[in-house]
Amino acid sequence: MKENSLDLDKCLEEARLFHGSLCAGARMGVRMSILGLNAIGISDPKGKDRKNIMVFVEMDRCAADAILSVTGCRPGKRTMKIMDYGKMAATFINLKTGKAVRVAERNNDGNELITREMIQNNPRTLDYLNRTDDELFAVSEVKVEISPEDMPGSPLKSVPCAICGERVLDMRDVTVDGKYLCRPCAEGKRYYQPVNP
Ligand SMILES: [Zn+2]
Ligand SMILES: [Zn+2]
Repeated sequence: MKENSLDLDKCLEEARLFHGSLCAGARMGVRMSILGLNAIGISDPKGKDRKNIMVFVEMDRCAADAILSVTGCRPGKRTMKIMDYGKMAATFINLKTGKAVRVAERNNDGNELITREMIQNNPRTLDYLNRTDDELFAVSEVKVEISPEDMPGSPLKSVPCAICGERVLDMRDVTVDGKYLCRPCAEGKRYYQPVNP
């Protein structure tokens, strides 16, 4: 039998090594990856198919690590895009065929607000994780437009910001009054504040 790179146990072990443990989120991420890759016709994500995949991950938690370890997609390769929606969902794209599939956890928790305290007192149990893929996940075919500047490969453009002078890659610059600006300068807000302005 030919080696199947999407063997569940093998993927779980890779996720454990990469993530540091096999928590519930990592297990979910592994199963989402296998479901997604199978659905887009990718059987060897880190081998012969490695240039044909991209994944959009909708949370920056444990499952993202698991998805990285199973798919081989990484931010540094520009093949993993983090869409920080805070949702247990990811979209797997076959770049060769254009087929894309979104895998999302079904809402199995009803309509109650769940607080951190409740989650800590009642973590995902083995019982929950023993549910079938169908019970846990909704899989739907989707369309994803990927702009040329978001694809792997050399940057399409690199310009210095007219205000701060720092270079902006990949067409993330904004044109204001005919000048190229970086987004923080254009928007006037940034995630950090200088300590000694
Ligand atoms: Zn974890
Ligand atoms: Zn700037």
